[in-house]
Amino acid sequence: MTNTAIVEYPDPILRQIAEPVIDFDSNTHTLVAHLIDTLNATSGIGLCAPQIGQAQQVLVMDLSADKSQPEVLINPEIIKTAGFAICAEQCLSIPGIVAKIMRPSAVLFKAKNQHGESLEREYTGMHAICLQHEIDHLQGKLFIDRVSRIRSLLFRNTLSSLQAGKPSLTASTYNPS
Ligand code: ZN
Repeated sequence: MTNTAIVEYPDPILRQIAEPVIDFDSNTHTLVAHLIDTLNATSGIGLCAPQIGQAQQVLVMDLSADKSQPEVLINPEIIKTAGFAICAEQCLSIPGIVAKIMRPSAVLFKAKNQHGESLEREYTGMHAICLQHEIDHLQGKLFIDRVSRIRSLLFRNTLSSLQAGKPSLTASTYNPS
């Protein structure tokens, strides 16, 4: 299967607002297949189209242990949130950084599947965290934006290395998405 390289920080596409999908055609299906293949080749649980270089509102998530249950969500919109949770997050596009982020712990959202059919679901726990992380990507936001300026000093060197195109020295270990 085709595998696509993952775009890394500070590539400007990670700061673009992704376009909604209008035609659920073979291009969309190819994009979804690439996303699933690319996610499967990583230890991550979520990936979106901008991370493989296409600024479209398409994301995939797979929280199953054997990566057998990919969920495809297109043009997702959060309707309502509740509660909060603090979770250590990381991102396949920002290797080497793990940061605790506070987000709502439950999310009601609507989206389309890859056939253009509407769906509405409620996610909690890691599903909710992963979904919000990916929806942030579609809006050009990164999880490091949600860290306070003082705490972000802790990973300033890693970001500088990524900006300079040098490999990061820090290992990534936890729930990348
Ligand atoms: Zn990410």
